[in-house]
Order: sequence, then C-alpha cells, then structure tokens
Amino acid sequence: MVRLPERISTIMTKVPGDGDIVRVARDVYAVSGSNTNWVIVKDGDSCTLVDAGYPGDRAAVLASLRAVGLHPGAVTALLVTHAHNDHIGAAEHLRTVYDVPVLMHEEEVPHARRDFLDQVSVGKVLAQAWRPGVLPWAVHALRAGGTAHVPVSEPRAFPSAGPLDLPGGPVPLHTPGHTRGHCAYHLPGSGILITGDALVTAHPTSRTSGPQLLPTMFHTDRSRALVSLDVLEEVDAEILLPGHGPVHHGAAKEATATARDRASARV
Ligand SMILES: [Zn+2]
Ligand SMILES: [Zn+2]
Repeated sequence: MVRLPERISTIMTKVPGDGDIVRVARDVYAVSGSNTNWVIVKDGDSCTLVDAGYPGDRAAVLASLRAVGLHPGAVTALLVTHAHNDHIGAAEHLRTVYDVPVLMHEEEVPHARRDFLDQVSVGKVLAQAWRPGVLPWAVHALRAGGTAHVPVSEPRAFPSAGPLDLPGGPVPLHTPGHTRGHCAYHLPGSGILITGDALVTAHPTSRTSGPQLLPTMFHTDRSRALVSLDVLEEVDAEILLPGHGPVHHGAAKEATATARDRASARV
C-alpha cells in the first residue's frame, strides 16, 4: 500500500456529486449526508468506506463513491463505527449487491444484526421534544429511515487486532459508551481520526458547535462515553472527522479536552 509521508491538512476541494464532499487529505474524502457523515479513504481504484448514512442516504452514498471516481464494487470493506440506523443505512445494499464485507468491533456485531436495538426510542425523543431542535431533528430522522428495520445480515468482526489491511491502513479504537461496540478509526498516514459518534462537532439537537459529546439521550452509557474520550485523547491526529457536524481541524488532545469540559458543564 502506498503511504504518503507528508500530512495534507488544508485541502478543501469540493467534488461535485450528491451530498457534500470535502477532500480533507490526498486520498480521504469526508461526505455529509442528511444530518450524518461518512468517509471515503481511497487507495488507487479501491477504497475503505467508513459508515453508510441513513437508509434514505443510500443513493447519496453510491453517488459520493462515483463522484470520487469509484464504482461501489470497488469498496474493499465498509467499516462501521457503530450500528445506529444513521450509520448503516446502505450497508446491507453494499453487502448484498456489491459483495462488500461489513466490518466492526465484535461487540457491535449482534447490534448490527439487530439481535437487539440499542438506539434512542421514539418515546425518549418525544420526552425531550420541548428542547430546541429536537422535534425538527426527529421529523427528519423518521423521514430518513431512522426507525426503519435495516439489519446487516452478516456483519463481521475485525479479522485481527491492530491496523487493518485495508486502504488507508485504518486502526480501530474501541470507544464504548455511545454503543457497546463503538469504534473510532485512526488513519496514521494522514493524521486523521474518524470519531463517529464518540465525539461530534455539531448536532441539530445541540446549541453548541465544536467538539462535544452527543446529548445524553443518544448514549447507551454516557459515563463510558466520557471515559472513551481518554482513548481519543492519545491519538496523534490533527483532523477529526465526526459522525455529525463539520470537519474539525485541530489536535485530538485539545478537541477531547473541549468535549470533556462541555460534558461536565452540561450534566
Ligand atoms: Zn449513533
Ligand atoms: Zn449518529
């Protein structure tokens, strides 16, 4: 695998296509779907895809691959940060139509199979509907397939510990709390940390912008999510790609400190 020695942290080339695609490093594209993000890590004519949008984002996921010059069949693997509906929307389609393996932490496998669903319930959301932004977000989430039944029939655990033999050489970092098997992914060659929902930079239900935890109702175990910030803090990365919100340019160490401060102020 060809690895670039230098870090390219300021490229912000817009690529036309459905959704919002930002080139954050030579071979790394951050894509904004409808209130959720995914990442394309290219290596020649193949790629690693990290996360797959809401069910309603399926066409946008496929279009984003084409926009960066890839056929959906060129996805070497789909890495899942966690199995909430807004991150696995296109997973089963990619798996069944294009034979793309869907990989994740072993603790997330039964969740992706929907042996159980560890996602905020409609009732819990409605109980928070008085908060600014919650109701419009909930309407959008419903329309985008946030409550659809979208299991991955054959999710797979990572084949080994440590860096994965995939485009970009992603290193999974188990960061439980948002869900039990949540993983962030470090791309050491480009100084990028894909944080998923362990650390986000904005959300329609939050009035804060910048590094933060999601609001409490979205976490399986918020105190574990706080502890998982310690894992992210140690990562040598200067670009953070969250599951929600814009790309963050800044060291993981500072971003996690900011998120921790905001979490303790919010409790
Ligand atoms: Zn989530
Ligand atoms: Zn999410």
